[in-house]
Amino acid sequence: MRFSRLVALVLALALPVAAQAAELRLRILATTDLHMNLVDYDFIRDQADETIGLDRTAALIEEARTQNPNAILVDAGDLLQGSPMGDVVARDLAEGDEIHPAYAIMNALHYDAAATGNHEFNFGLDFLERAQKGRDFPLLAANVYRAHPDGSRGETLFPAATLLTRRFKDSTGAERDVKIGVIGALPPQIMTWDRDKLSGRLVTGDAVEAVAREIPGLRAQGADVIVVIAHSGLSAAPQAGGDENFAAYLAPVDGVDAIVSGHSHRIFPGKDYDGFPGANLAEGTIDGKPVVMAGAYGSHLGVIDLTLDDAGGHWAVTDGRGEARPVAPRGEGKPKARLPADPAVDALASPWRAATLAYVRAPIGEAKAPINTYLTLLGDTGALRLVADAQLAAAQEMVKGTPYEGLPILSAAAPFRVGGRPGPDYYTDIKAGPIAIKDAADLYVYPNILTIVKLKGAEVREYLEKAARLFNRIDPAKTGAQPLVGDMPAYGFDVLFGLTYQIDVTQPARYGRGPTIDDPNAHRVSDIRYSGEALKDDQDYLIVTNNYRANGGGEFPRMDGSAVVLVGEEPNRDVLIAYIRARREITPDPTPVWRFAPVGGAPDVRIAIGPGGAAAAASDPRLSKVETNAAGFDVYRVQLPQS
Ligand code: MN
Ligand code: MG
Repeated sequence: MRFSRLVALVLALALPVAAQAAELRLRILATTDLHMNLVDYDFIRDQADETIGLDRTAALIEEARTQNPNAILVDAGDLLQGSPMGDVVARDLAEGDEIHPAYAIMNALHYDAAATGNHEFNFGLDFLERAQKGRDFPLLAANVYRAHPDGSRGETLFPAATLLTRRFKDSTGAERDVKIGVIGALPPQIMTWDRDKLSGRLVTGDAVEAVAREIPGLRAQGADVIVVIAHSGLSAAPQAGGDENFAAYLAPVDGVDAIVSGHSHRIFPGKDYDGFPGANLAEGTIDGKPVVMAGAYGSHLGVIDLTLDDAGGHWAVTDGRGEARPVAPRGEGKPKARLPADPAVDALASPWRAATLAYVRAPIGEAKAPINTYLTLLGDTGALRLVADAQLAAAQEMVKGTPYEGLPILSAAAPFRVGGRPGPDYYTDIKAGPIAIKDAADLYVYPNILTIVKLKGAEVREYLEKAARLFNRIDPAKTGAQPLVGDMPAYGFDVLFGLTYQIDVTQPARYGRGPTIDDPNAHRVSDIRYSGEALKDDQDYLIVTNNYRANGGGEFPRMDGSAVVLVGEEPNRDVLIAYIRARREITPDPTPVWRFAPVGGAPDVRIAIGPGGAAAAASDPRLSKVETNAAGFDVYRVQLPQS
C-alpha cells in the first residue's frame, strides 16, 4: 500500500502532464451531398423547400458551435453538381477569379476541410480545377491520382490528407492545441461514371487502402485524432476491394477515430440502418467508431462528439458518438424547419439564385401538342412515351461496349402525377408551347437514377402482370358502377415501351402487394409482342427503369437488385431534360402500347379524372361524363371494347 503510494507520487512528479490530466470535448460537424442546394429552394419544382439548403444547415452549424466551440466543420462531397444552380454555375462561372458560390459560402462558414465527391467530376476536370479558385480550406481525395502517359499512378489530384492544428479549451479551461488529421476518399468508380471525361487523365484506387496508407504519416506529424471524410455509403456486404460503399470498412482500420460518410443520401444514425452489422444507432457508432451520414441537399447536419483525454501524456480518444440533426424534424404533418435560414448565406447565393430561377423558367423545348396524364390510365401514352424515349436513348448509349449491347431494350415509364389520393389537380399538364425545365420535372417527379435490369421474357410477362394490378377486377355481368382503378398508387403502373400488349380487367390480379404470385391461375396480360413478334419466354430483354424499381420499390417480381446489370450516373429526370433540349420540338406520340382486352357484356366501368382533363376526356369516344364527385373529380363512364 505504502509502496504503491510512493510509486504514484514518483509518477506524478515525473509526469507533470499526467498530474494535470484533462479532457477535451471535440466536435466534428459535417455536411454531405449538398448537390448545390445552397438555399432552401427546390428549383425543379420552382418552390420554397425549408427542409433543405445550406442556408438552413448553416443555422444548425451555428447552434452546434455555440453548444461546443471546440468544433471543426467538414463536407463529404457531391457539392458542385445536382441542383439546377450547379448547372448554371458550371455554365456561367466566368474566367478569372470569381469564386464558385459553393466555396464562397463555405469559406464564409469557415469550413476546415472537405472531401471530393464523385459528382465533382461531372462537369469535367477543367471545370473542377477552375472552380477551386478562392477556396480557402483543403479539398481532399486520397485515392484519385493523375495518370502518367503510360496509365500508371502519379501524384494525387488533390491532397490525400491534411493536418489541422486547432486551439481549443479543455475541461480545466486551459487553451490546448489539438492536431486533427483529416483524410478524404471517394468511390473509385468515378472512372466508370465519368469515363468520357477522366479516361487517360486520372486513375483511381481502393479507398480503404489509400486511407490506411495516410494514417502513419499523420500520426508521425503528431496527429492526436484521425477523421476520415468518406464520400461513400455504408454497405453490409463483405469488403471486396475497390468498393463503392466503403465507409463502414473504415471502422476496423487501426488509427481511424471518426468517420464522416455520405454518397447514399441516407441518414446515420437512423432507421435506414436498423440491424446494420456492428451498428449502435443509439450511440451513432459502427464497430465502436463514431459515424455520421447527413442525408442530402443540406437536410441534416452530422455531429460527431469525441472525448479526448491526455492522461497518457498525449490526447487520446476515449469516447465518440455520432448524430444526424435534421433541419426540419419529421413530426405530424409537413416537416417544418426548426431554425430560420442564415441570411449571410442567402446574400452570397442571391445572384446565382436569380440566375437559376431564370434558367428553370426558360424554355428547353416546345410542345407541339398538350402533354398530360389525364388519360394515361386509359392507355394514352403521349406523356409516358416522352420519358420512355428519353430513357431508351440514354440506355442505348449505356449498353455500348458492354456484354448487353444488342439485346432488345424495353423502357419502363409510370405516371407519377395522375390524380388519385393527392387530388383532382395532381396531374402533369404541360400545355402546347414552351417546355421549361420545371415542366420536365413535373413529368418526372422523383430523383431516381437510370438503371437497367435484364430479365427473361417470362419474367417480363410477370413484370407486366404486377403493373396490371392497378386495375380493379371488373365483373362484366354486374349491373351498377364499377370503379376501374384500384387503391394502388399509379406510380406502380409501369408501362413497358417497346412492347405491345393487352390487359383483361375481367381477370383477377395475378399479384397483390408483394413480389410473389398471389393467384397462379390469373393472367391479365396477353398478346405481348416485341416488334410485332410474340414475346419469347427464354430470350433476354433489358428494361431501362430506375433505381427505385430495380431495387425493390413497389415490390415487382425479380426487382430485388439482383437483375440490375447497369446503373447510370444520371437521374432519369436529367436524361429527360437532355432529351427535350436535344429534340427541341416535342410532339407527343399517341401510338398505343397497351389496350384493354375486349369484355363480354357492357359493364358500367367508371374512372375519375380531374377537371383539367375535361377537353382530353371530351375527345375520347370511350368516355361519357356522369357526375362531379365530392372530391372534385369528374367521373366518367368508360366504354371498354366488346368481345
Ligand atoms: Mn450524392
Ligand atoms: Mg455520390
